[in-house]
Amino acid sequence: MENKKPELDALLRLTPAECQPGEGLLNDKVFLHAVEQADIAISITDPHAQIIYVNPTFSRVTGYAPNEAVGHNESILSNKTTPPSVYKALWLSISRGKSWTGRLINRRKNGTRYLAELTITPVTDDNGVIVNYLGLHRDLTDVHRLECKVRNQMSLISSVVDGAPMVLALLDDENRVILDNQEYKKLQSDLDMAEPAGQLLAALGRTEWQATTERKGHAFLDQEVRIDRKGSGSPRWFSCSGVWVKVDDDHADAFFTAKASTYLLLVAKETTSLRAQEEKARMAALQALVAEEERVNALRESLSAAVYQLEGPLNMISSAVGMMARRSKDDPMAGALAEALKNGEEALEKLRGMIPRQSSTASSTANINELLRSVLDLSTARLLKAGISVAWKPQAALPPITGYPNSLITLFKSLVDNAIDAMSTRGWNERELSLTTRTRGNDIEVLVQDSGPGIPDDLQIKVFEPFFTTKPQGKHMGTGLAIAQQIVVDHGGTITIESQPPQGCTVHVLLPVTR
Ligand code: FAD
Repeated sequence: MENKKPELDALLRLTPAECQPGEGLLNDKVFLHAVEQADIAISITDPHAQIIYVNPTFSRVTGYAPNEAVGHNESILSNKTTPPSVYKALWLSISRGKSWTGRLINRRKNGTRYLAELTITPVTDDNGVIVNYLGLHRDLTDVHRLECKVRNQMSLISSVVDGAPMVLALLDDENRVILDNQEYKKLQSDLDMAEPAGQLLAALGRTEWQATTERKGHAFLDQEVRIDRKGSGSPRWFSCSGVWVKVDDDHADAFFTAKASTYLLLVAKETTSLRAQEEKARMAALQALVAEEERVNALRESLSAAVYQLEGPLNMISSAVGMMARRSKDDPMAGALAEALKNGEEALEKLRGMIPRQSSTASSTANINELLRSVLDLSTARLLKAGISVAWKPQAALPPITGYPNSLITLFKSLVDNAIDAMSTRGWNERELSLTTRTRGNDIEVLVQDSGPGIPDDLQIKVFEPFFTTKPQGKHMGTGLAIAQQIVVDHGGTITIESQPPQGCTVHVLLPVTR
């Protein structure tokens, strides 16, 4: 059948007056030209899908000239591979007067297939009876191919990301994880944390990369981070890198003015087993160092005590010499005493000179959790022997502090030793040592709590005095806490003791992160 334009006029049944009031710009001709020149395949059928009109684009897309299409059912376009359920839904919708949009596999006149996106709109008469169907379709093959490509790439990327043997997490501006992989999910459950990414970033302890405006390339590279777990779980180590990722905004308002958001891709590779080997070697070296430090401290304590003991009698001799000199200048006794005093002071000075100096190491960054774990490891034998249970309550990630790691180990070791001594009192059954770390503003707070007999109120201030000890005389000189206090002061921090006998003792140490 021939495609006659007057039939279209009749079909559309539109008059300028019906379209628009006024001197009809929108007349049949305008409609006809618009439909003829539209860059979308348009067909009009009767209620049984018999084609009565096709536009030139329809012919271009399908290969059927108007006279080859008109009079045939639209099914001439069917490749017979579209599932019947699709046609069922199509007809269910349009026969009820509702338009339908969907995708069908079509075949051109030359036999090639294409994916059509089709919209069918029922056209009704004044009584609401369906008189025609208007079909608009376009070849969606390229779009579909592109969609598949994107989907394939997505699934390829997600299988690579999921299969990667490292933790990957993409974070937005507010450190919210918007994409992660299986290793990340595994870490979440292993550490029992909602967002380990936040902990890893917090443990980096540096915020310069967050503040930077030029977000390109690496934010940080191969930064080693330690995550501590409460209880007996040993710490885990990760080598972390951060890469800035720019993502174009896909909102409509960003179409002409390109907008992009920058995300941080966190890549964390576990280095715990490597660290464990290093840790073994470090502990052996630390053990030797602490043993040497203890030997030197004992010597320092003994010599300081000897100096302290000698200062008393020498002061008395000095006053006697002064008194005798005032009474009689020629008293031979006075001369002998003065000579003895001089010799005594020289000997004292020599003794002072023999007191070993506090070993000074260069300052470096230190992780307090790591130092405390080392102290616990060093004290394991003593803790076991005394039957003391340990409650290890570290903050999962602590920022590093700048200080003298060896001195800090001496400090914590002396606090732990004191706690062990206190709880080792004969007949004392409550034996628990608790070590807690947490950040407080710019400080790191360490709590060393024991369940020993405690220190009476009146002695709590005195414990920091040199040569004051509540332990059996002769065995301890009482300089441990004085040295501990000095180390804390050297780090710009504070140390206090709280005790309500007989409910044990809590030592608070505050160490500033930055000074
Ligand atoms: P058919 O024997 O035609 O029927 C398949 C299913 O549709 C059956 O479940 C049948 O019950 C139902 N059905 C068929 N005709 C009617 C009807 N008049 N009333 C209610 N249910 C009915 N198909 C394409 O494959 N490609 C196209 O591009 C395409 N464009 C279309 C454009 C318009 C405007 C319309 C109205 C239909 C179009 N169709 C198109 C649908 C087409 O008419 C056929 O229904 C379809 O191609 C299936 O043809 P078939 O010969 O395989 O099966």
